[in-house]
Amino acid sequence: MAEYGFNTVQVRGGYSPKDNQESVAVPVYATAAFDFVSVERAGRLVAGEEAGFVYTRIGNPTNDVLERRIAALDHGVAAVSFGSGMAAISSTILAVTGGSGRILSTYQIYGGAFDLEKSIFPNLGIHFDLVSHDSSLEVWEKAITEETKAIYVESISNPTARLLDFEALAKLAHKYSIPLIVDNTFATPYLFQPLEHGADIVVYSATKALNGHGNAIGGLVVEGNSFHWSREKFPQFYQKHWVIRDLEEHERSFLEAFPDFPLSALLRLSYLAYFGAVLSPYEAQLILIGVETLSERVKKQVANTRAVLSYLEKQSDLVSWVSYPEAKNSPDHKLAKKYFKNGAGSVLSFGFNGTEEEENRLIEAVQIFGYQANVGDARSLIVNSPKITHGELRPQELQEAQIAPETVRLSFGLEEAEDLIADLDQAFEVIRAERKAAKKSA
Ligand SMILES: *Cc1c(COP(=O)(O)O)cnc(C)c1O
Repeated sequence: MAEYGFNTVQVRGGYSPKDNQESVAVPVYATAAFDFVSVERAGRLVAGEEAGFVYTRIGNPTNDVLERRIAALDHGVAAVSFGSGMAAISSTILAVTGGSGRILSTYQIYGGAFDLEKSIFPNLGIHFDLVSHDSSLEVWEKAITEETKAIYVESISNPTARLLDFEALAKLAHKYSIPLIVDNTFATPYLFQPLEHGADIVVYSATKALNGHGNAIGGLVVEGNSFHWSREKFPQFYQKHWVIRDLEEHERSFLEAFPDFPLSALLRLSYLAYFGAVLSPYEAQLILIGVETLSERVKKQVANTRAVLSYLEKQSDLVSWVSYPEAKNSPDHKLAKKYFKNGAGSVLSFGFNGTEEEENRLIEAVQIFGYQANVGDARSLIVNSPKITHGELRPQELQEAQIAPETVRLSFGLEEAEDLIADLDQAFEVIRAERKAAKKSA
């Protein structure tokens, strides 16, 4: 399927009606287990000598279609689905570190991932060094230590929509023989394909724009084929395991048993299998339906983002700044041109120029924008990020993440751009009228 264009792969990739009773839509395989048929086949399945399904916690045909489709869209060699984006992220970090060492990351990451790095992983012996999106490459390089096992970034930061020079970061990672992991949730493979720019592993919250309909929670990890796992830093790929023995009962390593996709095999057979954060096939089907229209939705969402961006940039009495790579004052124009030719996602943030009470009024005065902790939905959303989506961060950490207290984040859906602008406009007018009235009475 990889030779077909994006639009073809998003509706057909990884699936053949011929193998599914001619069912045109991808069926939900609502089953816990799969019949072994014979003792001989059971032996081959367990030894990985024959591809097939055993138990849904380890793999399911509906999830398999989703995994193959996203791997094809991203030009990866394999993908593993998880029950949430956080499960995909935490499992990837566990698999890559092997349970110890350090990860180099940035302050500008998803609030949940930030708290995971700060409060959970250090207790498990995995530590994080953080730099800023604005840090020079020398600062990144200085932060790499003997123990660093990966660089972990987001392709479009949350909530400020900042970008990075991905090819330079990939080069830096590979200089130290460590992989570059990119959370590509905000961009989706339609706007950006990290593996094409040197990244080795891509993670997603499928809950967001991949699905796009706000009706399921899911995550994915996509593996590229470029990374060479060294014996010194990544012994987990070389150690022999009894559970992946061959038919002659010889223990094998993940690299021996699965040379084409060792990370996906490790993720599936260790972390998905034993931590058990499996994606329900029902939700895999919902996400697959969402993916069928991914490019069309994202195109429209980007168009809406651009329309509202130009409106916001004219509201200087209430909007002190707008953060989006295509905004007038963005420091990311060059990066956007290089990496995001079709738009830098459908999330932007702006600085609300007013009091906290006025900001609260704005959030409650909009009629179309929903007040929710979500992004990439078909419906447009508004949120006071420092308090909600990044509520995990202390004031000092918010400062380091360059999330100003007055930040308001918008995520654009599929409504009419004119309606979205009119909605914000009537809410701004409420505040302007109140200011006028207050002035009069003073
Ligand atoms: C939402 C989100 C996550 C977490 O995903 P869940 O599916 O909610 O677990 C991770 N990274 C980014 C960038 C997100 O927006």
